[in-house]
Amino acid sequence: MRTSTPVPSIHDRADATGDPEIARSAQLFNEHNLDLYRDQVHQAADAVAAALRRARHVHSGVRPDELAPDFEALDLDTPPGDMPAALDELRRLYLDHAVYFHHPRYAAHLNCPVLVPSVAAEVVLSAINSSLDTWDQSAGATFIEQKLIAWTAARAGLPEAADGVFTSGGTQSNLMAVLLMRDAWCAREYGHGRVQTHGLPAAASRLRIFVSEASHFSLAKAAALLGLGHEAVVGVACDSARRMDVAALERAIAHSREQGDIPIAVVATLGTTDFGSLDDLGPIGAVCDAQHLWLHVDAAYGCGLLVSIAHRARIAGLERADSLTVDYHKSFFQPVSCSAFIVADGAQLGLVTHHADYLNPREAAAAGTPDQVNKSLQTTKRFDALKLWLTLRTVGADAVGAAFDGAIALARATCELMLAEPRLELLHRPELSTIVFRYRPCLTTSEAELDRLNAAIRAQLARDGEAMIAATRVGGRRYLKFTLLNAATTVEQMREIVDLVLEYGRANAVGAVPGSAAVNAQWRRHG
Ligand SMILES: *Cc1c(COP(=O)(O)O)cnc(C)c1O
Repeated sequence: MRTSTPVPSIHDRADATGDPEIARSAQLFNEHNLDLYRDQVHQAADAVAAALRRARHVHSGVRPDELAPDFEALDLDTPPGDMPAALDELRRLYLDHAVYFHHPRYAAHLNCPVLVPSVAAEVVLSAINSSLDTWDQSAGATFIEQKLIAWTAARAGLPEAADGVFTSGGTQSNLMAVLLMRDAWCAREYGHGRVQTHGLPAAASRLRIFVSEASHFSLAKAAALLGLGHEAVVGVACDSARRMDVAALERAIAHSREQGDIPIAVVATLGTTDFGSLDDLGPIGAVCDAQHLWLHVDAAYGCGLLVSIAHRARIAGLERADSLTVDYHKSFFQPVSCSAFIVADGAQLGLVTHHADYLNPREAAAAGTPDQVNKSLQTTKRFDALKLWLTLRTVGADAVGAAFDGAIALARATCELMLAEPRLELLHRPELSTIVFRYRPCLTTSEAELDRLNAAIRAQLARDGEAMIAATRVGGRRYLKFTLLNAATTVEQMREIVDLVLEYGRANAVGAVPGSAAVNAQWRRHG
């Protein structure tokens, strides 16, 4: 169905008011265009379904230089003109090359397969297009967000007074955490509002935040953005299980005080990005109590434990947190973005409140109007909460938790089969669902050669689209990493990825016949 209108007629009518032809040609979403709406949403859904049926490989393996010419040739001022044609073009430019996170051969980053109810929620929230900054732009949506924040806080064991907001991701949540720990300290020292009005005091350059060496880089970035500098973030050594070493934490705090620096907070990670390690919240919380430090828990990855059936006990100590980062778009299987920042004392969110006469005037707050913008760094804000809401109201929390438990079980089983492989060197036993390892053909292979070999394995897997796995560096050396979030993946399918790693390792070793792995991949493709 072609719905485009000849360009000249729009030009002729461009300053008309209430012209139905203009609304039609722009395809405005309203009660007159509901058939068009249903048609296009169905066409889009069909295009996605067809792409998933076609996607035998996790990824086409296309390189940027191979795809770039298609984009250069494209003129955005001459559109294909209707949805079927635009979707067909999209297939060629995107869907045929996308990296498919639902695919059993996807084991790279903290990207999850998503739940169908959360995808359905996207259809609703983007059509209604509520903006969660003020009640007068969102009405009931505000209560949905607030109810989910309260639910998450209760699961974490935080007090009644806890409050928070949905955010764009763990990075924004961690930025809010560093902002609040900084400003809570400044408010105590200099009085409420002084920093907001006059900027940072000279002492700000001495503020120190203690994180484990395995913590997320967004914390250092936040400190830099907030005028504290990277140096404000002190990396504390980890134990052999890649958890923050609590004795080292105490020493680091003492050392910092001796230097005249000002410790203000500790960030514990519940699920480190590389190792999935869980910092021991009990003892870390005790240190924070004794030293009067803010405890932020970065549970961007580990938040799935909140709904876990098998591993729920492992969040013990979380109830002591002053603030919390959760990424529902990781271990709750929600589409990007879906995250939250929660603070134990909701009143602390007042530190980011700014009143604008046209949006969220003081009077509205005084009258008790629930404007989420008063607690948020964002103004216009997506109704991402609806995805989690429809998930909890359809499949329920236990189903989400069981899916995360399934990923943890898969990692453990994969670890067992890898331990039986003499050419694979594992760096740890998985606490959640990541496995860091490297291919090591023999004990005498040099570190430089191991780096080359492991980089080659990963590059080749990505190139032929056979599997997508991650890489990282530990102690300056290159390692490979599986991040598993797909409860539908079987141990046999993981066995296949492990076999590919071994095969590509052999093929890339010095003295191997060049290209043999590529030849084998061809056979597999045709087989
Ligand atoms: C992913 C991650 C983040 C960052 O979250 P985004 O949603 O990618 O912004 C922060 N901390 C940890 C531990 C993470 O794994």
